[in-house]
Amino acid sequence: MKKAGLRPGWRGEWFQPVALVGVETLPGVAISATSPGGEVPLTWLTDVAGQTQRQRAEVEFEGEAVFVGHGITAPEFGWDDWRGLEAKGKVCLMLANEPQTGADAKFFDGPALTYYGRWTYKFEQAARKGCAAALLVHTDASAGYGWSVVRNSWGREEAQTKLAEGAEGLAFAGWVSREAAGRLFELDGRGLPQVMATAGNRGFRGYAMRFRMKGRVPSRIRQISARNVVGMVEGTDAALARQAVVFSAHADHLGVDAAAGGDGIFNGAVDNATGVAVLLEMARAWAAIPRKPARTAIFLATAAEEAGLKGAEAYVAQPGVALAQTVLNLNFDSFFPAGRVKDVILDRAERTTLWPHVERVVARYGMVVKPEPRPGAGSYFRSDHFAFAKAGVPAFSVKLGTEFLANAENRLALVREYGAKRYHQPSDEFDPSWDFAGLEDVARLGIEIGLAAANNPPGVKWVPQVSGKRPAAKSKKGAGKGR
Ligand SMILES: [Zn+2]
Repeated sequence: MKKAGLRPGWRGEWFQPVALVGVETLPGVAISATSPGGEVPLTWLTDVAGQTQRQRAEVEFEGEAVFVGHGITAPEFGWDDWRGLEAKGKVCLMLANEPQTGADAKFFDGPALTYYGRWTYKFEQAARKGCAAALLVHTDASAGYGWSVVRNSWGREEAQTKLAEGAEGLAFAGWVSREAAGRLFELDGRGLPQVMATAGNRGFRGYAMRFRMKGRVPSRIRQISARNVVGMVEGTDAALARQAVVFSAHADHLGVDAAAGGDGIFNGAVDNATGVAVLLEMARAWAAIPRKPARTAIFLATAAEEAGLKGAEAYVAQPGVALAQTVLNLNFDSFFPAGRVKDVILDRAERTTLWPHVERVVARYGMVVKPEPRPGAGSYFRSDHFAFAKAGVPAFSVKLGTEFLANAENRLALVREYGAKRYHQPSDEFDPSWDFAGLEDVARLGIEIGLAAANNPPGVKWVPQVSGKRPAAKSKKGAGKGR
C-alpha cells in the first residue's frame, strides 16, 4: 500500500489490531435434557455441536427449555417469535432458516434469504433476549447442508471476536441434529414435523417446554492477534474530505491443515489473493489520479473474513473514518481468472441511491448486470461488505459472472472445477495459465463506481425496499453453506 502511494489509513497506522479468541469445545462436554421422565443426554458431535461464547475454559448452564420458532423479531414482516416470552436465563431452541414464503415477495423477501434466516442473527437475538444457551435444530432442508457440515465446522476451534470488558455472551451456542431434536420434542409431547409446521404459521409465539436443559462445557481457549491493513488517499474537497469510500478485500484464508492434503497450506490464490490484487491495483490507480476525488478513499485488507467477517467487524466497530461519514463500502472477494466476461453481479447495489451511476458505468464497459444467481443461499451475508451493511452503510460486492466472451465452454468448466475441487482447499493455488483480463475489468468498474460515490455531492443512501421490484432469480432457500 505504501508503494501504491497510500498513507496509513487507520488512526495514523497501517495496521489495525483484530483481537480474537480461539474457542474449542473439549470432548468432556456434557449437554442433556431433564424431565420428570428422566435424563436425555446428547452425544457430542452426533447429536450436538457448538461452542461457548463466554471465552472461558469452564462454563456451565441450566435452565428451562423454551421453543422460539425461528427466533425472529421482524417488525417489517409483522413477525415476532419472542412476543410475550420470558427467555432470560433459559435454554432457547430455535429452527434454522426463516418462515417459508411461497410466492409472496412481500413476506421475508420471497425466495431470497433475509438476514433473519442466518444462524448468526439467531444467536445474536438469543443473546439480546438474555438466553443462557441457544440451540438450532438442524434439518438438511432448512440448513441447506447436511449434519456432516455442521459437525465439521462446529466441532473444531472457532475464532470469536474478543468479548468487551463485562460482556457475557451465550454459555453455549450450537446445533442439535434432527434426530436429537426429535427426542427433545418428544419430551414435550409433540413431534418435530408438527412443531415445524406450527412455527411457520402467522401468529406463532414461542412457549416454555416441559423439560429443562443443562450443560457443562469445557473449552480450550487461546488469544489470537490478527490485523487489518489499512491505507488511504485523502479527499480534496474541504467539506467532503471528512467522508470516505471504503474499498475492501479479505487477505486471510484458512491457515494450514496437514490433514487436508498436499503441503496443507490454504494459499487462497483465487479466494482471495485475486481480490487483494484488485484492491492494490485500484489503490495504485486512485493515488495516481491527477485531480483527486472529493471524498477520502480507504483501502482495507481485512483479517479473519473466513472466520466470520471478524476483521471487517473490527473495522466497523472502530473505523478509520466514522461510519456516519462513510458513504459506501465496495468489496472484492474471489475472481476466477479465466478471461473476460460480459456479466457482473452487484447484489443490492440496486437498493442504493448510487444505482443509476452504477448502471451507467457498467453499460459504458459494454457489460450487463445479472441478478445474484442463488439469492436463497444468502451469499450477501457472507462476505465483508455485510459487516458495513449491518451497521447501516450502503455496501455491496463487485462479482464477475460466467458469460465468457471467448472459449466459453472450456472456461466455464474451469470455474466449475474450481468450485467443486479447489474452493476452500489447499489446491486453491496460482496457475500460470490464468488469464487476468477479467480482473482488469473488475478494477476499472470498482474505480469508476468508487469515483461516482466519492464525487457525488449527496453521497450514497440505502433506498427503502420496494418488494418484488428488483432483479429476481428463482432459488431454493438454504441458510448458507457451512460457517
Ligand atoms: Zn473469500
